[in-house]
Order: sequence, then structure tokens, then C-alpha cells
Amino acid sequence: MTARIIDGKALAQQVRARIADDVAHLRAEHDVTPGLCAVLVGEDPASKVYVGMKHKATEAAGMLSRQIVLPDDTSQEDLERTVTDLNADEEIDGILVQLPLPDHLDARRVQELITPAKDVDALNPYTAGRLAIGDPTFLSCTPYGVLEILEHAGVEVAGSNVVIVGRSNLVGRPLSVMLTLKGRDATVTLAHSRTRDLGAVCRGADVIVAAAGQIGLITADMVSPGTTVIDVGTNRGEDGKLVGDVDFDGVVEVAEAITPVPGGVGPMTVTMLLQNTLEAARARRGLPRR
Ligand code: NDP
Repeated sequence: MTARIIDGKALAQQVRARIADDVAHLRAEHDVTPGLCAVLVGEDPASKVYVGMKHKATEAAGMLSRQIVLPDDTSQEDLERTVTDLNADEEIDGILVQLPLPDHLDARRVQELITPAKDVDALNPYTAGRLAIGDPTFLSCTPYGVLEILEHAGVEVAGSNVVIVGRSNLVGRPLSVMLTLKGRDATVTLAHSRTRDLGAVCRGADVIVAAAGQIGLITADMVSPGTTVIDVGTNRGEDGKLVGDVDFDGVVEVAEAITPVPGGVGPMTVTMLLQNTLEAARARRGLPRR
């Protein structure tokens, strides 16, 4: 049997249309336009592309999009001042510092400076800590996108065995916490490069989330029939094309459902950034969710 392909692009369009509608109401009813500011340091081509995509998506949702581009040799002090100014900027609800930063800059310190009320990328340790104690504020965008995909695809995670491959602070670790919160109730195994017999671990899964950054890591023999496979991996193949961590052609023959790369998790990551910015704009003004 061939797996159902989960169309992340179509889901992203659907969710973005709903966000744009919410933004229009916020403006009409409360005269509030949510604002997102991205801070980019240096000339990293991939970072420029990501910031450009986020800018377009933010404007398309009817939000204010601002970009601050700082030179490669920006000092830690200047970058921190930029963030501090944005913390106090009334027009801005969400602050995003695009990673990676040039080597001489301390990303952790910068993330810690972003005020939690505007931490829409959810990388401030305070935000991570709130999630860890089961009282989350913002959810980091990629894991949040994975949750939305699972829900949209009708995958029941409560009581299920979910294997997440990759334990980074950006994807795997926060996703493991989100899935085990009361109300979601998954049983999660967080696998990593020291996991013994990854194949056996994956074969026991109802859901596999691959977030290791290794081309072709998850192969058909590691997947049991009935499993949903979510591929977070975004890697460049030898031909320069985007490929995930899952051997798509093999796994699609075994799994129940699968996300493609591109067109799976990627479009949902930017979408959840918009959702967080909308939530930040409401929360800062004490407005309830719609
Ligand atoms: P990191 O490099 O920070 O983390 C990778 C994780 O995978 C580590 O925990 C590592 O284990 C684990 N790992 C590496 N190799 C193996 C292996 N052979 N077996 C089991 N586990 C392994 O990566 P990120 O979390 O930042 O990103 C992961 C992937 O997701 C990348 O391809 C990235 O491009 C993509 N990504 C996609 C996004 C999207 O929007 N679609 C957003 C963010 C990331 P250990 O801890 O032991 O080293």
C-alpha cells in the first residue's frame, strides 16, 4: 500500500488564510496591526532567503513586517541594543533574530534578552522553561507546525508511541515536551546519535518524526505498516535539491501517511511564526483569542 501524502503547503495556505482573517478583525475591531521584526546580521545567503520568506508571509497576512539588517562585524553590544530597543517598541509584537549569527556573537545572550512577551521564535530559556513545566507561552515554530500537521492529518497522538529522532533545542526536545503535555498525552521516545538500534526503536512507533539533518536516515525497514512519518529534515542533496531525513521513495510504500520535503513541515514553520505573532499582539493588549 502507498502512504497518504500529507500536503503541508496546502495546510499552510489554509492556516495563513485564517490568520489573515483574524488580523483583519483585530485591525477592524481594535485598531491593532500585529508587527514582526526580523533582525539579520551579516550576509549568509540562506538566512537572507529565510528572512525574505518570512517578510513576504507576514505582509501577506496583513501584518507589519520590519527588517533590520546589521553588518557582519556588528558588536555584541550593538546587537543587544537593537533587541532592547525592539523590546520597548510599541509597533512590534514579535522579535526574531535570524540564526546562525556570525561566530563572534553570543546567540544565547541575545535570545535571553528578547522580552518573553515578544519571543515568537520561542528560543528564550524562559519560554522553554515555561513549556518544560507544562505552562507554555509561545511554542517554537517548527514543533508547533508538526503538531498542527498531525492534528490536521487526523493522527491521534494520545496514548500513541511517538519516536522523535533528534534532540535539538530547536526541534526535537521542545516537540517531545509538547507531545507529552497533559491533553496531548503521547508516549515519546527521544532518539539521538547515541541511540542503540534506531531501527528497532522506530519499528515500535505509531508516529516517527525525523529531525536529525541526515539524508536518508529513516529507511523503509525501520517503519512498520500503519505508521505516520513526519520529515522535518531539510538538507541539500548532491544535486543541490532539498531532501529530508526520510528515504521517501522506500518509506512511502510502507507508511500510513508521510510528509514530503519540500512541501511538508517547512511551510508550516513560517505559518506558526505568524500565528505566534498574532497571539503576541493579542496577549500584549489583554485581548482574548478569537
Ligand atoms: P541539530 O544538528 O541541532 O540536531 C540534530 C539531532 O539529530 C541531534 O540531536 C543529533 O544527535 C541527532 N542525530 C544526528 N545524526 C543522527 C543519527 N544518525 N541517528 C540518530 N540521531 C541523529 O539539527 P536541528 O534540530 O537544528 O535540525 C534537524 C533537521 O531539521 C535539519 O535537517 C534542519 O535543516 C531541519 N530543520 C527544518 C526546519 C523546517 O522548518 N522544516 C526547521 C529547523 C530545522 P546528538 O544530539 O546525539 O548529536
